[in-house]
Amino acid sequence: MIEGLTKTMSSKKNKKEVVLLRGIGVSSGIVIGRAHVLSRGGKEVANLCHIRDEAVDNEVVRFKDALKASRSQLLKIKKKLQKESVSKGKEHLSIIDAHMLMLKDQMLVHDTISLIKKGRMNAEWALKTVLKDIKDLFSKVDDEYLKERSSDIEHIVERVMVNLSGGHDSGIGDIKEPSIVVAHDLSPTDTAQMVKSNVLSFLTDIGAKTSHTAIMAKALEIPAVVGLEVVTESIVTGDMVIVDGMTGAVIVNPSESVIDVYEKRKKRYRKYDKALLHYRDLPAETTDGRRIKILGNMEIAEEIGSLRDHGAEGIGLYRSEFLYLNRNGYPTEEEHVAAYRHVVKKMAPNTVTVRTLDIGGDKFLDPSDVADETNPALGLRAIRLSLSQPELFKVQLRGILRASAYGKVKIMFPMISGVDELRKAKSILEEVKAELRKERKKFDEDIEVGIMIEVPSAALIADILAKEVDFFSIGTNDLLQYSLAIDRVNEHVAYLYEPFHPAILRIIKHVVDAARDNNISLSVCGEMAGEPEHALIFLGLGLERLSMSASSMLKVKRMVRSVSYGEAKEISEKVLGLESARDVESYVVSRLSAFYTDEFEAHA
Ligand code: PEP
Ligand code: MG
Repeated sequence: MIEGLTKTMSSKKNKKEVVLLRGIGVSSGIVIGRAHVLSRGGKEVANLCHIRDEAVDNEVVRFKDALKASRSQLLKIKKKLQKESVSKGKEHLSIIDAHMLMLKDQMLVHDTISLIKKGRMNAEWALKTVLKDIKDLFSKVDDEYLKERSSDIEHIVERVMVNLSGGHDSGIGDIKEPSIVVAHDLSPTDTAQMVKSNVLSFLTDIGAKTSHTAIMAKALEIPAVVGLEVVTESIVTGDMVIVDGMTGAVIVNPSESVIDVYEKRKKRYRKYDKALLHYRDLPAETTDGRRIKILGNMEIAEEIGSLRDHGAEGIGLYRSEFLYLNRNGYPTEEEHVAAYRHVVKKMAPNTVTVRTLDIGGDKFLDPSDVADETNPALGLRAIRLSLSQPELFKVQLRGILRASAYGKVKIMFPMISGVDELRKAKSILEEVKAELRKERKKFDEDIEVGIMIEVPSAALIADILAKEVDFFSIGTNDLLQYSLAIDRVNEHVAYLYEPFHPAILRIIKHVVDAARDNNISLSVCGEMAGEPEHALIFLGLGLERLSMSASSMLKVKRMVRSVSYGEAKEISEKVLGLESARDVESYVVSRLSAFYTDEFEAHA
């Protein structure tokens, strides 16, 4: 396919050079187009540029100007906060004072200037190098307070970086031509802006199969490759790029003949995609008549059309956190009601399962929030955050409950790890219901309440939790992250993302048994549900509800229609006795290939 290419991982920005990169293909499709590198002042896109002798003084001035600009921005913020007499404002004042002091820090300022001068480095790279030294130093200090201050340094460096880049972050909305976006990482705020934008595809240095970027790419049907490690160093704006979202191949500055090959592959892919539409109006039913419900995962309102077009029989997971993005402040109760009511009406008579806020982990509202916690994935995210701010939580619960007056709605709590946490969430829900009754506001009194099973502790006590809820939904993305101890965003451990790991299969089986024994409904809404080979195992284990992005629905439906429940059961039983993910995978793939062949890959 890509013969004749100069295979190199060079990080040099030589426009003529053909560069082949391999990452993790997370959203299928082929795109050929021009790159647009998102220039973020932040640490993530600081590249090394050697500067000429005569440019050194200028570079030092540029750095000092950025320090000055940062200082005056902080002063402005300080003045604004001083006007607010609230105690929270006072707390922030001392942080700002500390940040202003850091701007004068000897190591930060002196060492950066010294690196610019002696190392002939651009200011960004020099600052990045010094930041690394400071962080190393802090990490050796045996003092928790000082260790935490290291994140303050990161914030201040980020601010200086932004000012070095001209004082503003470039965003998705600034892209004027249809382009392939290249970035170190993208925040949910970025990806949420990709609807109706000029983004044809995106490529990131970091990320893996289940990072939020991957999920959004699939949701928006934008071909994407993540975990490329050096993509921001290998591509400059304007480069011609080929993206293969299936194989994870990225070819920079391809020759005409390679473009030709990919144009043909692109056409074939389109044909295959179109052929899958045949399954849209057919039921997801096995050859021996077992009926499965294919539900949709939804992030933003714009997805509803595509989910319906692909035959979604309800929304199994509405990731409500996207309502909190790209806006000032939190959504009001009325905004919550309007957002959910819209989806409920569009999906009627089917059910919409709204998951309460799951911010944190790799889904943060603002990039600077990430550094606030040492281990964000294990930190104050999801239900933990909601329970820590009950007033905010109540606003959302009121919104969901009120929307239930307009159609079938379910409430789902994310990241439940134990029974007390669940009871707390339920008691707040009861308080909210009582308030609404008092106010004579309508809602569904029989609204079902369920939880995500995505933390291993919850999976292990599924039999206990099942007695407290109406339904479970297995969140395999986090379940894998926490069970296998692999950061779902970290490309360096992405190879350990093994959905067929015997531990995962056993945990899932345990949850399935608990749900069945307690007679509650069960679905899967993690990315595994949307992969035919994984969905086959769920089918065999007896699951009847699978929730996934629009782009996965027809592939899964096709698989379901190709096998019998009896065969799926036999396969699931067999894999539970196998010893490694590899053994399971080869067994499942070989069994699946007997049922049908993937037409696209067969002709690729
Ligand atoms: C999951 O963890 O599997 C899941 C569906 O939730 P999210 O990807 O939003 O964390
Ligand atoms: Mg999750």
